[in-house]
Amino acid sequence: MNCLSERVNRLHPSATLAMSARSAELKAQGVPVINMSVGEPDFNTPEHIKEAGIKAISENWTRYSPVPGYPSLREAICNKLKNENELSFKPEQIVVSNGGKQSVCGAIMAIVNSGDEVIVPAPYWVSYPEMVLMADGTPVFIPSGIEQDFKITPAQLEAAITPKTKALILCSPSNPTGSVYSREELRALAEVLKRHESVFVISDEIYEHISYVGHHESIAQFEEIRERVIIVNGVSKAYAMTGWRIGFVAAPVDVAKAVSKLQGQYTSGPSSISQKAAEAAYRGSQQCVEEMREAFSRRRDLIVKLAREIPGLEVNEPQGAFYLFPKCSSFFGKSDGKRTIFTSTDFAMYLLEEAHVACVGGDSFGAPECFRMSYATSDENIVEAMRRIGDALAKLK
Ligand code: PMP
Ligand code: GLU
Repeated sequence: MNCLSERVNRLHPSATLAMSARSAELKAQGVPVINMSVGEPDFNTPEHIKEAGIKAISENWTRYSPVPGYPSLREAICNKLKNENELSFKPEQIVVSNGGKQSVCGAIMAIVNSGDEVIVPAPYWVSYPEMVLMADGTPVFIPSGIEQDFKITPAQLEAAITPKTKALILCSPSNPTGSVYSREELRALAEVLKRHESVFVISDEIYEHISYVGHHESIAQFEEIRERVIIVNGVSKAYAMTGWRIGFVAAPVDVAKAVSKLQGQYTSGPSSISQKAAEAAYRGSQQCVEEMREAFSRRRDLIVKLAREIPGLEVNEPQGAFYLFPKCSSFFGKSDGKRTIFTSTDFAMYLLEEAHVACVGGDSFGAPECFRMSYATSDENIVEAMRRIGDALAKLK
C-alpha cells in the first residue's frame, strides 16, 4: 500500500544529488571515481568568512534569528544589490533562507496557485519543475537547443504565455548550460513581459559571480517589470559556502512577507552562525571571489578545448557557471559490445562504469540529447577525466 502523499509520489529525487551520492559510494569501495556530477566549488570557504563563523559561536550568536534573517545581514545584502547591481532594495524586501534552493522554493510557494503555469526554459536546473509540482502548479517548458546557445527567444516566450501563466523562471548564468543572457537579450525578454502584467519573473542569479563575459546583468534592471521580479541569490557558489546554507530572495514587499510567513511555519530563520559568516562574505574583501572566478575561467578554457578534441561530442562555449553541457546524441544506438546507449542517462552510466567519471544525463535537465559535467574540480582531474572519457567513447561502435 502506498501511504505517501500524492505530492511526494509525483516528485523525482534530485538527479544531481543522486549521482553525486552514487559516485561517493563507488569511491568508498575504492573505485577511483572523478566526480563531475554535483555543482559545487572545490575551494574551501575563505579564511575571513570562516573566522566570522567561529567568532559568531564564541560571541553566542547561537539563538533563533528573526525569521527573514538578521537586520544587519539584510542590510549588507541591500548594499551588495546597490553596489554590484545598481538595484535599490530595503531590508524588508530581503528574506534570508537555508540556501538558494529554499529561496527558489519559497518564491514559488509564495505566488503559485493550484493549476497556475510556470514557464521553465529548458535545459533547466533539475529542481525547478519539481518545485512547481510541489506547489501544485504546472511547469511549461520552452525548449532551446545548442544551436541557439540554450537560450530562449522573445518569440518563444510570447508563445508560451497563456492567461494561466504566473511566472517565468530565468537562470543566468545558467545551470546546466553555462549560457549567459546579455543585457540586450534580457531587455527583449523584459519587453515581452511588460505586455503581460500578471507574470512574475523568478530570476535565479546564484552564479552571478562566475561569469566570463564581464559584469552581471539582472533582468530586475528594467523598470517596467521591476515590481514583478523576484531575485534569488546566495553565498553558496560565489564564496564557496555550499555547506553553510545561506541564500536569499530580494522581492516586492508583499512577496517577501509571504516568503517569510511560509518560512516562519516551516523552517524559521536560517542558522545564526552561517548568517554571521555570510555577512562577512558580503561586507569583506571581494578578492577571493575574483580569484575563484579566474580559476573557473581557466578550467572552462581547458575543458572546452579537451572536449572538442573528442569525436562525437558537440560542445558550445559556456560563458558562466562551472558546467559543460555537450551534446552526446551521436552516441545513441551505439554499443561497446556489452551495453547499448539509448539515452543520456545510459550515456552518463556508461561513463561512470567505464571511465569512472560521474556526470549527469541531460534527461533530468529537460535536454535528453546532452549531458552535464561540472568543472569545479582541479585541472589535473579535468585532464584525466577527459582522457578517460575519450577512451571510453572510442569503444562505442
Ligand atoms: N539555483 C541553482 C541554479 C543552483 O545550481 C543551485 C545549486 N544547488 C541553487 C539554486 C541552490 O543553491 P544553494 O546551495 O544555495 O541552495
Ligand atoms: N547546484 C548543484 C547542482 O546542480 C547542487 C546540487 C543540487 O542542489 O541539486 O549540481
